[in-house]
Amino acid sequence: MFRCNEVVERASLLIDGDLGFWPRLNIRLHLAICRGCRAFVEQMRITHDLTAMAGALHDPAPSEEIAAALARRKMGPGKKA
Ligand SMILES: [Zn+2]
Repeated sequence: MFRCNEVVERASLLIDGDLGFWPRLNIRLHLAICRGCRAFVEQMRITHDLTAMAGALHDPAPSEEIAAALARRKMGPGKKA
């Protein structure tokens, strides 16, 4: 079974789902008995989710400048001639 530092090293891989079966199992076993690592992984998961959400929020509406440039290029429904 992994030790704490080995769990910590692999925590982001675990959260990203990039770990194979055995390392994942090892971590789960460790988390079952180690409250500190459980808290650590939980914290990382929250950070990870927030980061993903922030990315999604950041994405959508282009700035006015970009929207205007796109409208000009397409000669779309922009108000400019
Ligand atoms: Zn631990």
